[in-house]
Amino acid sequence: MFKTSKATRKTKMKYQQSNKGRKKHNAANKKYKQTIKGKAANKKYENKAQYRKYGLTTKQRISMYIKQNGCCYICRFPISYDDIKTDHNHKLKGIKSVRKLLCHRCNVLVGWVESSPELINPVLDYLEEHKIP
Ligand SMILES: [Zn+2]
Repeated sequence: MFKTSKATRKTKMKYQQSNKGRKKHNAANKKYKQTIKGKAANKKYENKAQYRKYGLTTKQRISMYIKQNGCCYICRFPISYDDIKTDHNHKLKGIKSVRKLLCHRCNVLVGWVESSPELINPVLDYLEEHKIP
């Protein structure tokens, strides 16, 4: 590996922080993420992040996925392991916060209902009011 001078590094850093440099860097990053190596690196990063966030190992998550027969816990729709979300209670920390594996739609819905449960009935009433006979 060759050494770069302080001035070269400074110029390079300045370029990377410029709009043109950032665009080029982001495009290269996006392209890399599409490669097999990039996807593997991203998966590894996600697994580490998941462990840091919930204390959930990949083995435990796979076990949960198998227990749920590869489906969302709420709507029972089959979903790939890579796309399924780990639902967790925001008030708890670590492994205790992990509830179930959900599809994106149910995970978002749970988040909304959890934060505003008083809106469930008004929303249902609204939908009933505008129901097509
Ligand atoms: Zn679902």
